[in-house]
Amino acid sequence: MEQDIIPRIIPRAEHRISRSLINPNALRILYRLKDNGNIAYLVGGSVRDLLLGREPKDFDVVTDATPLQIKKLFRNCRLVGRRFRLAHLHFKDEIIEVATFRASAPEETEEELDPTMPARVGAVRPSRHQPHLVSEEGVVLRDNLFGTAGEDALRRDFTINALAYNIVDFSIIDYVGGVEDLERGVIRTIGDPMIRFTEDPVRMLRAVRFAALLGFTIEEKSWRALEANAPAITLATAPRLYEELLKLFLSGEGEKGYQLVRKGGLFTPLFPGFSAWLDSESDGFPHIRISRNLEWIDQLNGRGKTVSPPLLFALMFGEYLEERAANMREEGVTPQEAVNAAVAIFLAEEVPLVAIPHRVGLALRDILTLQNRFQRIPGKRPEAILGRLAFKDALTYLRCRYEVTGEGAKALAWWELYSRDNAMPPVEKKKEPAGSAKPRSRRRRRKGVPKNVN
Ligand code: ATP
Ligand code: MG
Repeated sequence: MEQDIIPRIIPRAEHRISRSLINPNALRILYRLKDNGNIAYLVGGSVRDLLLGREPKDFDVVTDATPLQIKKLFRNCRLVGRRFRLAHLHFKDEIIEVATFRASAPEETEEELDPTMPARVGAVRPSRHQPHLVSEEGVVLRDNLFGTAGEDALRRDFTINALAYNIVDFSIIDYVGGVEDLERGVIRTIGDPMIRFTEDPVRMLRAVRFAALLGFTIEEKSWRALEANAPAITLATAPRLYEELLKLFLSGEGEKGYQLVRKGGLFTPLFPGFSAWLDSESDGFPHIRISRNLEWIDQLNGRGKTVSPPLLFALMFGEYLEERAANMREEGVTPQEAVNAAVAIFLAEEVPLVAIPHRVGLALRDILTLQNRFQRIPGKRPEAILGRLAFKDALTYLRCRYEVTGEGAKALAWWELYSRDNAMPPVEKKKEPAGSAKPRSRRRRRKGVPKNVN
């Protein structure tokens, strides 16, 4: 094995991570590994976030112990992934991931390793017998080599994500200048960004997500490489892109993320039809509702509220889908069929690129369908509307629309009251203009037909 590079060590007295900030289960794992004579570090996002004074989402541990050794050490351990490469330690309400140091390889997700997943055009299917595999486009598909602590740092995506917290002396180990980049607010790939973005195009979306979320800037060389490689974003697998886009738009800084993916050229290849519509103005006005809606979602997230994937997609693409549905209605299609068709066409284009799950597509369609229904107050059987799975999201959609555009005040007020009290609020009667007698229903029963046959 080649000589490991020498890291910068930041001693305990010179950084802000105290043990009281570390998840107790993660801390116990670190101590247990150390007491067993192993190297044990906290790594990745948790170290980055703790150094920034933010609350980490998850605490990942790396060690020189092999998965089998980890399993022997912890009763609550399950080995996961192909060839049982990773250890999951199960606790009452969380799972902590413990990985063995690895040499250069992009992150693998279960989806990527799933042999039932269709391979992308030009991609080589990963095989158990080939540890390194590179597709025609240079995307690394599989790599499974254990390595040293230094190699494990170098395989990570950005310098700020490659820091390790050492349980032996509570120091920070920095192989790549990550501490300095954290202080300066810079996202920088480890190594040549052209190579790193080619190996794993999802890293481009991650760069944008961290820049938006942390308020950092993407270092110039990394940004130029991102712009140059942006069309290759579609080479990543569709399930991973779906997951990563949710993280981007629901991070709490979704609007900033949206501006950055647009600017970097990552958005158009992923949403081609929608992007073409965005670029064509409506009645001379640019389409800015998606931005306003994403800001609205960010505010909701800021208040600790969660936004479901169908609601996110409805708020992002609703205006576009409603416009397409309206066009179809002009051609004589019923409102329901028009929404169905607009959503179906959109999903047929999107799903091969971004694997929006079927149930999410159905819920998206329901949210939009209910917007039509909300216009009738109370309409037939309003209680059935209340029972619809998508009702809550549909009402939130209506609220966002009202707050962003001022439209739909009356429907919003009525349906919010009705759903809150579960009793019918009074309905404002429309004054019938003189001489406008109701047309006779075409569906009147003919005489002689019994009302209830059963
Ligand atoms: P989050 O706060 O979203 O969890 P994170 O940085 O912890 O951010 P994870 O997806 O949890 O992100 O990944 C943990 C670590 O694994 C990262 O910090 C990074 O070091 C490494 N990593 C994740 N994805 C990649 C990738 N695509 N290429 C290289 N390294 C990656
Ligand atoms: Mg993480």
